Amino acid sequence: MLLEIFDPKAPPRAVGIDLGTTNSLVAYVREGVPTTIENCHMETLVPSVVHYDPRGHTVVGKDAVPLAHEHPRETIVSVKRFMGRGADDPETKRLGPYVFMPADPSGPNTVRFDVRGKPVTPVEVSAEILKSLRELAEDELRTVGGCVITVPAYFDDGQRQATKDAARLAGLDVLRLLNEPTAAALAYGLEKKQNGTFAVYDLGGGTFDVTILLLEDGVFQVKSTGGDSALGGDDMDRALFEHMLASAKKEASTLTPHEVRALLDAAKEVKHALTSADTVTKTLPLAGEPSVTVTRAELDTLVAPLLERTGQASRRAMKDAGIKPKDLDGVILVGGSTRVPAVRAYVAKLFEHEPLSDIDPDSVVALGAAVQADLLTNADREGEVLLLDVLPLSLGIEVGGGVVDKILARNTTIPTGARNTYTTQEDKQTGFLLHVVQGERELAADCRSLARFALKGIPPMPAGLARLEITFKVDADGLLSVHARETTTGIEQRVEVKPSYGLDDDTVERMLTEALDHGESDLLKRRILEGRVEAERVASATEKALANDGHLVSAEERALIESATRALREAAAGEDPQKIRARLDDLDRATKEFAGRRMNVAVARALAGQNVGNLEEGVKHAKGVENAHVERPID
Ligand code: ADP
Ligand code: MG
Repeated sequence: MLLEIFDPKAPPRAVGIDLGTTNSLVAYVREGVPTTIENCHMETLVPSVVHYDPRGHTVVGKDAVPLAHEHPRETIVSVKRFMGRGADDPETKRLGPYVFMPADPSGPNTVRFDVRGKPVTPVEVSAEILKSLRELAEDELRTVGGCVITVPAYFDDGQRQATKDAARLAGLDVLRLLNEPTAAALAYGLEKKQNGTFAVYDLGGGTFDVTILLLEDGVFQVKSTGGDSALGGDDMDRALFEHMLASAKKEASTLTPHEVRALLDAAKEVKHALTSADTVTKTLPLAGEPSVTVTRAELDTLVAPLLERTGQASRRAMKDAGIKPKDLDGVILVGGSTRVPAVRAYVAKLFEHEPLSDIDPDSVVALGAAVQADLLTNADREGEVLLLDVLPLSLGIEVGGGVVDKILARNTTIPTGARNTYTTQEDKQTGFLLHVVQGERELAADCRSLARFALKGIPPMPAGLARLEITFKVDADGLLSVHARETTTGIEQRVEVKPSYGLDDDTVERMLTEALDHGESDLLKRRILEGRVEAERVASATEKALANDGHLVSAEERALIESATRALREAAAGEDPQKIRARLDDLDRATKEFAGRRMNVAVARALAGQNVGNLEEGVKHAKGVENAHVERPID
């Protein structure tokens, strides 16, 4: 007998879940390849059906499907249609044969099924489906380390929250919710193209969704969505049912409910068979066992009116996105019903593009979710991280003169990170006071304060010698962590802040408008303050250099430098940032050769007295500074 060996130290694997209206499935990335997980019968699709038996136990998936016929009120199908709906939503009555409980006055306003006298919410039903997917994944992976769950692009906040709640109830840790069309695009690796416009045509069991996706610098944006929430493979089954009934010369009114169901199942089997065969002959489960033959051409005629409806919705979605078929860079087929050859042909004509169909359309969404889950958790793939969201407001720190230095700009896609290097403004400064702010205004006082912390214990050094590296990292959920490190001493400090917390859209909007209103006066103030800080730093550094290394300049040079320093100080006392800039440039020119000579002397001195280890250390520091793109005194 062979025993499978689990590596106990192997990190738990993250999975991707397609929680579908008709079918759900789970996938993960195995040795770099996204793969759907099968049950012991080699089936990957779990029908999204949950039956509640009299003892309160649940039956989920394939075994629950026949029970839906016998116990329609105790067996919830297509629960996804109920997600996020309130108890007072009139739509719910039309969505199935269920009995509902009145709203719970003390609980959240959610629709509740009456199942054998007990209230059951859509979140709980979905949790049962997710639990069975989790168990399926655990059979294969032993432990599941988080999941990415897909949702339709049009799902609102309530529907998304309900999906997350269901996952939590099922014991799953949601890394991210991902739009279904984006997941399909990821499965095809379209993000590698960096830019493009794509149409995703998703025809499932009972729903049709079309989405126009814009890919810009590797970031997907939903441009428009459209569809029909009552159009899908079930409609094809019904059309075929009527056709077969007529061929067998039977009247629907003469059938027992049991025969209706059996015939609908037969219609579905014929439909599936016609995907690969041109003709199918089937003995019908009716009295007299009549046999009927259906051709692919007949099915094509039956589905034509349904396809026309998908065409209307698709054209509208293109119009909403402001595009024409020729603007598309690709079309993706999603959903089991796009296996029907007539659907593929129709889509090719509709979008004037041969659709991508290499990946099984039932699995493509789950596979894309698995890719995303892997990107989010696999350390080897760090840096490839997919960017899907943006920062609402800029993040920065307060530097000299109360000015904000923006480290991460507004609209930067997250997760993201950036590092700036700063230095001290005064001699013998032994600490930095860091002030992290969020907003678009130029002065820290006008931005939202996120955190203040101190970096202390730095040995006293001359101004400008300390090297403070500040790293901002924002994770996918918008959580900011700040890391400050003084590189010559290695002293460091970390803080975590939640930058978007408590900022609703209105607040963000207001902060943006204010920044626009004050844009010019802010900028002027900022330039003056910055100029003054810079002028003082350069002037005092120059004076110190003259005092220490005065022997390196001629009397003539010294007079020139001293007058340039005076001119700079005068400009700094005024209100004209351009003048300060000009005097800074003058002084820079006047001291250029002097600075070069000082540098040579310093290098010679350093080389004479140092061993190799110290040199390497020096190289490291130099690199750290090279990374910096801003060097400005702080605090
Ligand atoms: P959903 O996204 O709504 O959960 P799916 O993408 O799983 O649904 O699609 C289910 C539909 O796909 C069903 O109507 C089923 O009959 C149909 N389907 C699956 N396989 C085939 C096939 N080979 N030929 C035609 N239709 C198929
Ligand atoms: Mg689907």
